[in-house]
Amino acid sequence: MFCEYDLHNHSTASDGTLTPSSLVQMAADAGVRVLALTDHDSTEGVPEAVEAAARLDIHLIAGAEISVTWQRQTVHIVALNLDIDCGVLQEGLKSLRQRRDRRAEEISRRLEKSGIPDALEGARSFSDGRLISRTHFARYLAKIGAASDERAVFKHFLVNGKPGHVAGQWASLGEAVGWIREAGGQAVVAHPARYRMTRTKLRRLLADFVEVGGVGLEVVSGSHSKDEAFTMARHAEDFGLLASAGSDFHTPENPWIALGRLPLLPDGCAPVWQDWGLALESPIRAMSV
Ligand code: AMP
Ligand code: MN
Ligand code: MN
Ligand code: MN
Repeated sequence: MFCEYDLHNHSTASDGTLTPSSLVQMAADAGVRVLALTDHDSTEGVPEAVEAAARLDIHLIAGAEISVTWQRQTVHIVALNLDIDCGVLQEGLKSLRQRRDRRAEEISRRLEKSGIPDALEGARSFSDGRLISRTHFARYLAKIGAASDERAVFKHFLVNGKPGHVAGQWASLGEAVGWIREAGGQAVVAHPARYRMTRTKLRRLLADFVEVGGVGLEVVSGSHSKDEAFTMARHAEDFGLLASAGSDFHTPENPWIALGRLPLLPDGCAPVWQDWGLALESPIRAMSV
């Protein structure tokens, strides 16, 4: 049994390789019933995804993955059920995209100093005029053979201590959660087991998150082991957070993270979708078979 909800996914509106409509099609084919499009710092792909979902047996949740700096570390907050016409939200996301532009220029300058010219143009050739993520630099550097593949590019160029690393200066936790709430959405801490944090520090993050109005924790993630999911389920319970499930799918080229293959939430979790009014769909369908 796989989870019918997949609430963390990327498209070409950020650093995914599928267009929003191809992503929706692929998710529907894989048996996903409720899909959230959560591009980095953008909801640009949502209208196309909503339109594609309307033609298929799948429900589309309007979302985003917002870049946050908390205690000098980057933390990602997944936003679900957004009113994408909310001005406060869109102003906030726009400011993050502007910071991305400045960071991309700085990354490019640093790569140039280490012997790789024109990296910004190269990254842009992969981002198709939309926002630039480190993933676009990674794709370009892999293409020109600076390292063997994207993963190796991150390791050798784009992470802390490496020549093309530039620390992001993103939104504060309170700002990001504030924009999400203003847009009527739910804020969820993304892939909590992937941060380089001690258990104590993660729990400090969760306490701060709850304090500013966050409501959910991504207990099941494409990047979590079974043990990590159980650990996160306990943290969610301790902090009164709802549990979410998301693959963090970016591309069919990554064999490790597939659509429609997420495990169910651990027993006892309160799902983030519990009040969405969608829960009856499956049993009714099952009964009518
Ligand atoms: P950014 O938000 O521009 O700093 O880029 C972050 C994105 O880079 C993440 O959402 C992942 O898609 C990707 N990423 C981060 N670390 C790695 C890694 N070690 N290997 C491959 N992709 C990575
Ligand atoms: Mn990404
Ligand atoms: Mn992330
Ligand atoms: Mn993501």
